[in-house]
Amino acid sequence: MTTVFKFGGASIKDADAIRQLTPLIEAHEDRPLVVVISAMGKTTNKLEALLAAARDESRTDEYRQCLDSLKTEHSEAMEALFGDSGESPAERVSALFQELDAQHRKHRSSPYAKHYDQTVCYGELISTTIVAAWLNRCSIATDWHDARKLVRTDSRYQAANIDWPTTAESIRQQLEDSDSVLLTQGFIGGTEEGEATTLGREGSDFSAAIFAHCLDAKEVVIWKDVTGLFNADPRRFDNAVQLERISYAEATELAWHGAKVIHPKTLGPLQEKSIPLMVRSFEAPDTAPSVIDAEQRFDADVPSCILRQDQVWLEVRPRNFSFMDEPRLHDILGRLVEAGMHANLVDSSAMRFALCLDDKPERLDPLVESLQGDYDVSRENNLTLLTVRHPQAGMMDELSKGREALAERRNATTAQRLFHSRDCPETWHIPD
Ligand code: ASP
Ligand code: MG
Repeated sequence: MTTVFKFGGASIKDADAIRQLTPLIEAHEDRPLVVVISAMGKTTNKLEALLAAARDESRTDEYRQCLDSLKTEHSEAMEALFGDSGESPAERVSALFQELDAQHRKHRSSPYAKHYDQTVCYGELISTTIVAAWLNRCSIATDWHDARKLVRTDSRYQAANIDWPTTAESIRQQLEDSDSVLLTQGFIGGTEEGEATTLGREGSDFSAAIFAHCLDAKEVVIWKDVTGLFNADPRRFDNAVQLERISYAEATELAWHGAKVIHPKTLGPLQEKSIPLMVRSFEAPDTAPSVIDAEQRFDADVPSCILRQDQVWLEVRPRNFSFMDEPRLHDILGRLVEAGMHANLVDSSAMRFALCLDDKPERLDPLVESLQGDYDVSRENNLTLLTVRHPQAGMMDELSKGREALAERRNATTAQRLFHSRDCPETWHIPD
C-alpha cells in the first residue's frame, strides 16, 4: 500500500538538509512511496517579492537582483550536493529559471492572481528537480512527476479548487503500482488548459492529502522541524507540550482557529478515507510522532491555546436607530464573502453586528469602505485573539488576568477572548 511523505521548506532548505532526507526515505522500503515537496526554505516568499518587482516597471534592477539571488541559492545547493559531476541537474534548473523569467515577461499585465500562479510554482518545480536528482544519485530510484498535470483544478488562481474525479484518474494512472519513489510538488496544480494554479500558501500538506486520498494510501507522514503537533506555539508559550493523538475534527478546529500546524484543508480528504496522518521530526525521527486519525477519545485531554495576531474589531450599526435584523446580517455577511474574508469571531445584538477579522489591508480596506457606505462602522486595530480549546475551569480568566477583553465567546469546547496586543505578554504560560 502507498505511503505519502511530505517535506516542507525547512526540511530541504539547503544541501545539508537535503542530505538528511536520504536515510528517512531509505528506511522506508515499501513501494509505492509518494514524496511531496515544498519549495526550498523561504523561496516562496522570495518569489512573491520577485513578482512584486516584476509588476512594477520602475523596479527592473530589483527584479534582476531578486532573480539572481534565487539562482545563486539554488546553485550553491547543487554545487554542494553534486560538485561538477554529470549527475547535477544544473542545466534543467537553469532552463526552469529561464522559463520563470519568460513567464514574468508574458504575464506582467495579466491579473495578479494568474501572474502569481504562473511564476510562484517554480519554487516547487525547481526544488523537486534538485531533490529527485539527489535521490537518484544516492541510488534511490526516483521518478519526477509534474503536479500541474496530476492535480487538476479550476482556474481560481491562488486558491484553486480540486477537480477530484479527473485528479484521481490521472494520479492513479500515473502513480499506481510503481517500484520507484514518486517525487512531486506540493502546493501546485493545473487547469484543463494547462495553466499552473496554486492551492493557497502552505498548501503542500493539502497536496499530500490529495495524493493519499486518490491512492487510498495507508498513511501520510508530514516531516517537520518539530517533533509533532503542540498544544500551543512553543515560541509564545513557555510550557507548550506535544499532542500525542487527536482526531481529524480536533486538528481541523485547531488549524481553523489559526494554529499554524497543518493546512486546514488537509484533514477532509484523509478523514473521508480514514487515512492516519503522522507529524514527525526529520531531525529526531525516532521520537514518537503526533498521530491524527478518527479517534476522538483523547481530544479533550490537553487544552490547546492559539494566538491570532494583527486582528481588527469592526462594529457595524444600522443608521436611523434600526435593528440589526436578518436581511442586514445577510447583507453584511454577503459583503464579507465578496471580500474573501473570514470572521474569526462574531457577536450580534439588537442594533449592532461586530466582527473580528485579520488585518489584511488589500481585502479589509475595500470591505470597510463598502460597509461605511450604508452603516456606521467603528474600528479597533492592533488586537490579539486568544482561543482556548477544551479550557479547564478558570483557565481563561487566569490567562486574561489584568487585561481588558474587547469581546468574548464561549461554547462547550472553545473559549475566545480579544485583547489589545499592547496588553499581551511576549511569552504566555498555560495555567495548570
Ligand atoms: N512553498 C509553499 C509556501 O511556502 C507551499 C508550502 O510550503 O506548503 O507557501
Ligand atoms: Mg513552504
